[in-house]
Amino acid sequence: MTKSTFPSASPFSSTAPVGEEHARLTIDLRALADNWRFMAKKSGGARTAAVLKANAYGVGLEPAARTFHQAGARDFFVASPAEGVALRPIVPDGRIFVLSGMWPGSERLFFEHDLVPVIASQEQLAVFMAAISERGDHPCALQVDTGMNRLGLTVADALALAHDPARPASFCPVLILSHLACGDEPLHPMNRMQLDRFRAAIRAYEGVEASLANSAGIFLGDEFHFQLTRPGISLYGGAAVNDEPNPMRPVVKAEARILQVREAKIGEGVSYGAAGMLARDSRIAVVAIGYADGYLRSLSGAGVPLRRAVATGASGFLHGRAVPLIGRVTMDLTHFDVTDLPERSVRAGDFIELFGPNMPIETVSKAGGTIDYVLLTSLGPRYRRDYIDADW
Ligand SMILES: *Cc1c(COP(=O)(O)O)cnc(C)c1O
Repeated sequence: MTKSTFPSASPFSSTAPVGEEHARLTIDLRALADNWRFMAKKSGGARTAAVLKANAYGVGLEPAARTFHQAGARDFFVASPAEGVALRPIVPDGRIFVLSGMWPGSERLFFEHDLVPVIASQEQLAVFMAAISERGDHPCALQVDTGMNRLGLTVADALALAHDPARPASFCPVLILSHLACGDEPLHPMNRMQLDRFRAAIRAYEGVEASLANSAGIFLGDEFHFQLTRPGISLYGGAAVNDEPNPMRPVVKAEARILQVREAKIGEGVSYGAAGMLARDSRIAVVAIGYADGYLRSLSGAGVPLRRAVATGASGFLHGRAVPLIGRVTMDLTHFDVTDLPERSVRAGDFIELFGPNMPIETVSKAGGTIDYVLLTSLGPRYRRDYIDADW
C-alpha cells in the first residue's frame, strides 16, 4: 500500500483568525482623536483644522472626519471639490476648504455644497469673481506662494489685490494661507524666509485669519501658528519632521496572511530575478501582500536599484520580533525570512504585521526610500478595514 501524501489534519494555524481577508488594516480611532488633540495643544492659541485629502490619507474619510469633528475640529481641508462634496454630509456644520480652488465648470459644487475655494491664481480669481457676480456672495480663501512655487498668488499680486481700488466689496477672503516647503527640516533657512514673506502678505489683509503651518510647521513653534493650523500626516500617526523621534500615536496597523511556509536551501534564489540568494538554509513565509496593495516594490529586500543606496529592505513583525523581507515584492506576494523564529511558531494563516504599533511606519517607509505619506495614501482597496478604539 502506498502512503498517502494527502494531509489528514489542517496545516493552517489553529490560532490564526478565520476569515476571508488576506490582508487587513486596523485603524485606531482613539489614537486619531488623541493625535488631533495633541496637535491642537501644540498649536497653542490657534484653531486646529484637520486635513482630510486623499480619503483622509488612506485611513477612510468618513470615520476620520467624524472622529476629528467629535474631538472638536470644525475646519477641514480637502484637495478637490469632489472630496468636499463627499465630506459635506459628514460634517454639516464644518467649514470645508478646497485646496485646488475653483475652475470653470466646478462653480456649482462650491455653491450647492457650501465649500470654500482656496483661490490660488489670477485665473481662479477671475472665475470666482464671475461666479459671485452671477450667483451671489460666497466665502473664499486666498493662497499666497511664499517660496514653494506650487499654488498661490505671488506676494506682490496679493498686495496689489488688497490695494486694488477696483476690488469689489463682495471679495473678502475668510482666510489667507501659504504652505511651507521645508517644514520637515526645522533648521532650513527657507522656513524663516517664508514666514517673513507671509507676514508681509497678510499685513495688507487686516482682520482676515491667516494659516501657514502644516504638521511640520506646527512643530516649528508659535510664530508659525497664526489663527489656524492645518495638520495632516501627524494626525494619522506619520512622521512630520525628519530625523527626530515621532511623538504621534500609531493609527494604522497593516497586516497580511502567511499563505505558506517553505524550507529552502543555502544558495537557492527567492522571488523574481532570483535576487534574494540564500546565505543559509532558511524558512520563508510567503505573505499575501504586494505592490498592488501599496506595499511598494522599493521595500524589497534585494533586486531593486534602491538597495544599492539603502542596505536593507523592510521588515515585518511576527511573534515578538522583526523578520526581514527577502527578494522582490511582487504584485500580490512577498517573502519574509522567519528562520530565526522557533520552528513551529510560524504557521500558514497567521497574520504578519507590515507596519503599525510594533513596526513603526517611518522605519518601513525609510527602508523603501519613501515617506509615510506615500505608504498611507497607497493602501489599496484589497485590505479589509476594521475601525476600533484601542490602547496599543
Ligand atoms: C497636505 C497639505 C497640508 C497638510 O500637510 P501635512 O504635512 O500632511 O501636515 C496642509 N496644507 C496644505 C496646503 C496641504 O496641501
